[in-house]
Amino acid sequence: MGSLHSRDSVAVITVLRNYGLDDVEIASNQEVIVSQLLVRRLCPHCREPKASGAVDQRYLERLGQDCPETVWDAPGCQACAGLGYLGRTAVFEVCSLGVDDHALILDGAPEQTLRRHLADTGHASLLDNGLRMAAEGVTTLAELRQAGLGLRARQQGRTS
Ligand SMILES: [Zn+2]
Repeated sequence: MGSLHSRDSVAVITVLRNYGLDDVEIASNQEVIVSQLLVRRLCPHCREPKASGAVDQRYLERLGQDCPETVWDAPGCQACAGLGYLGRTAVFEVCSLGVDDHALILDGAPEQTLRRHLADTGHASLLDNGLRMAAEGVTTLAELRQAGLGLRARQQGRTS
C-alpha cells in the first residue's frame, strides 16, 4: 500500500506514469484506488438552508453543474463556538478497476478517457461525492471550493 498526491483516483494513474512505472506495472498493481479529501463538517445544530449565492453559482458553473436554489449554511451557535463548522469529515472516492479499465491503462489511454469510461460505468467521482455531501448538508460548497475540489490538485490519493 502506498500513498501519493493527486487530483483524484484517475489522476493517480498519471502520477504513477510520471514516477516511471510503465502501464503494465500500473495495470497489474492497482486494484483499488481510494482518494479522500478532508473538509470541515457543517454544524448539525445550527445548519439551515439558504438561497444559493453568486459564488456558489460560479463554482458549479465552472464544474459544469446546475446550481440548486438553496444550499446549506450554518450561522454558528454555542455547540460550534459560532464557527458554523464542527469537526471534519472526508469525501471519499473508491475506484475499483475492472478488466476494461486495466485494458485501457495497458493501451496507454489518457486520464480523460479513463475518467469518461469510469463515469459511463456509474462510478461516483470525488467531485460527485463531494457535491452530494454538500447537497445533504454534511459540508458546504464553500468548503469544497476552498479545498479546490474540481479546480486544482490538492487531494490525497491512496493506492493499494
Ligand atoms: Zn452550530
